Amino acid sequence: VWLVTGASSGLGRAIAEAVIARADMLVGTARDPRALDELVERAPERIKAMRLDVRDLSQIEAVVAGAVEAFGRVDVLINNAGYGLFGAAEESSDEQVRAQLDTNLLGSIRMVKAVIGSMRARGSGRIIQISSEGAQMVHPGLSVYHASKWGIDGFCEALAGEVQSFGLRVMIVEPGAIRTDWAGKNRVDAQIIAAYEATAVGALRKARDEHKYPINGDPKKMAEAIVSSAVSADPPLRLALGSDAYRQMMKALEERLAALKAQEAVACSTDAQLPTTPFQ
Ligand code: NDP
Repeated sequence: VWLVTGASSGLGRAIAEAVIARADMLVGTARDPRALDELVERAPERIKAMRLDVRDLSQIEAVVAGAVEAFGRVDVLINNAGYGLFGAAEESSDEQVRAQLDTNLLGSIRMVKAVIGSMRARGSGRIIQISSEGAQMVHPGLSVYHASKWGIDGFCEALAGEVQSFGLRVMIVEPGAIRTDWAGKNRVDAQIIAAYEATAVGALRKARDEHKYPINGDPKKMAEAIVSSAVSADPPLRLALGSDAYRQMMKALEERLAALKAQEAVACSTDAQLPTTPFQ
């Protein structure tokens, strides 16, 4: 039994289709569940559409209760719902910052908390978090989006350690750019400050608007890779998808490792004198 958030479009829709092709049970969510009518018509006995805005805890609780009522449990949570706030930090209003974190970061955490107790009690379950390559590297001009994705990555890695002994597994999916409406009609734009137009922030906007930013990820292929990893005997903690994600994360991680290595002397010079205080 799969619970897929944001199943109305893009990657979430493709994941829902891949789940349906397996003949499994699916609860798909959308803020307007009518967007899922066509999916449900394909196999109404094993597909349920539910209304969900991940910013609303009462809707989350109703969705999980609805999944249990319809199919008895949730085996796999696909935490996919999310969007991108385009703009520099200074350009983004407080309301936009809160909404971005409320959706991508807090919404994902709320979903996890809503399913984890019953998974723990059953001794099985999988949490699949759709994060981003943007949780290992950055594009100036998406700073608040990165805060949400780096945040959820750290949460999920720690979560994996918290629930492993109960038989639960966590997988963080880190795709590169995908051919969806994420950077198009579904994005939110901050209020442009002219001074940023000549910086990396303006360059990102220009590349996006002139369709010069390469977007090569195929949502269907990515969905199939996600679903097959999610059901594998030993899913990886992180799943990189897209040649751009692979290359950009490799570059960023190598640079971070080199920068850390260069700090060995200063890092190790700041310990207190022996004997050390035990960690309490
Ligand atoms: P889409 O815009 O096509 O899909 C986003 C989905 O999230 C929609 O189904 C939308 O549903 C849902 N959503 C947005 N806000 C909320 C909310 N408050 N509550 C519930 N659902 C919400 O984009 P993608 O398919 O590309 O995005 C899916 C995930 O992949 C996101 O987490 C995104 O950050 C991530 N990602 C995308 C990349 C890309 O290049 N496209 C790259 C890396 C990661 P609704 O119908 O309710 O609006």
